[in-house]
Amino acid sequence: MSHKFSIITMGCQMNECDSDYMAQSLAHLGLLPVNDPNDADLILINTCTVRAKAEQKALSQLGRMSIIKRRKPEVILGVVGCMAQQQGTELIKRFPQIDLIMGPRELGRIQDVLKRIISDRQRVIAIDLRACLPSYFPFGGYFEGRVAGFISIMQGCNNFCTYCIVPYVRGREISRSPEDIISEARNLIREGVKEITLLGQNVNSYRAEGQKRPNFAFLLREVSRLEGLLRLRFTTSHPKDLSDELIQCFAHLDKLCPHLHLPFQAGSNSVLKRMKRGYTRDHYIDLIAKLRSMNPEIAITSDVMVGFPGESESEFLQTLDLIEKVRFDAIFSFKYSDRKGTFAYKMGEKIDEAEKASRLSALQSLQRQITLEKNRALEGKQLEVLVEGRSKKGGQLTGRTGTNKVVNFDSDFNHIGSLVKLQIKDGFQNSLQGEIILFNN
Ligand code: SAM
Ligand code: SF4
Repeated sequence: MSHKFSIITMGCQMNECDSDYMAQSLAHLGLLPVNDPNDADLILINTCTVRAKAEQKALSQLGRMSIIKRRKPEVILGVVGCMAQQQGTELIKRFPQIDLIMGPRELGRIQDVLKRIISDRQRVIAIDLRACLPSYFPFGGYFEGRVAGFISIMQGCNNFCTYCIVPYVRGREISRSPEDIISEARNLIREGVKEITLLGQNVNSYRAEGQKRPNFAFLLREVSRLEGLLRLRFTTSHPKDLSDELIQCFAHLDKLCPHLHLPFQAGSNSVLKRMKRGYTRDHYIDLIAKLRSMNPEIAITSDVMVGFPGESESEFLQTLDLIEKVRFDAIFSFKYSDRKGTFAYKMGEKIDEAEKASRLSALQSLQRQITLEKNRALEGKQLEVLVEGRSKKGGQLTGRTGTNKVVNFDSDFNHIGSLVKLQIKDGFQNSLQGEIILFNN
């Protein structure tokens, strides 16, 4: 049996959550985690394939880990996650040094699969998309020292947006039971976690099995009741499934942070239709108005893409117009990336890279200006911050507001894990600078 493992995690929060699950499974088998893959007997690369760039990064990581394997052939090298699912046997043909290929839907079997590799010394390819939800088994102490934790409440996606590879690599939607989720949340809280983020590709369509088919608003209400929990967040939401019941949660649930990440992807109705998103720009703008009337302080962030096949200059200008109208707190913006197997891959009228780059740069400069204005408008305000740790530079403490803005501040005390009240002194592009007024530990 190998003794030490190292997991390299790339991509989204869902992958981080999957890596936590694998780490706990391996710890159950008696393996010890190490940070440096050079010290490990088992190396797992948890990959992303949502854009071509993510895939290139995963392949270069695989190159680096292969050097270790060449030096120490007894090391078990596994590629897991979305790129593993997408490329499957092709990947092992190109890189015969790989011992394990495992898709995200198979992670629940990681213990059995590893035992098989070790005892039979055979390669394993596990990419069945029908595999069911992994059962949850906590490993005591795993989350100690963490202020914020993730819980994956569902797997997969049924939406098949035309540009997106996710439904092909993460399978159809399946929701975990509220009981399972609550028991995982209780465990995180017991270990000291103060803020929980519920994760899914489209949490708005969460529907558990059972007679009453509990929905996402129900789940939020249940989790927010847990004693010891200070803050609750969730991501990602889909505009077509954002219900009034869920919007009302922002007014009624004290622990639910006033922040919603609501990807809009494009500002023109024709592009939204070609993306098969299932809403119009007006519907999106109406949702934002409803959210702001429910809670005027709510922060809205989003994902957007430029250069979708056939996107004309005037369609792109509608995206800029929507950004100006909504005034998002922050945006994650991407150039459309062709993914083999998706509907958009087969569409004509691909936009060339230089044009995509120029649209992205115009969009990002507009958003930077809005973000800075919003951050500066907070100067002089008093905000509550959950302290998460020390900032990378300057040795200050760092935390986030309920609206998910990073605030750094000086203090002689260790407030990590506590809520503190800060006066905002400066609003910068990516963070705020605060001064402590009140703390409660
Ligand atoms: N389920 C979430 C949703 O519906 O918004 C997130 C899915 S995806 C992992 C995160 C973001 O990546 C998407 O919101 C989208 O903006 C972007 N994305 C997905 N496919 C893409 C592609 N082919 N090219 C560029 N960006 C893409
Ligand atoms: Fe991809 Fe659309 Fe599903 Fe999000 S909702 S994961 S963008 S298919």
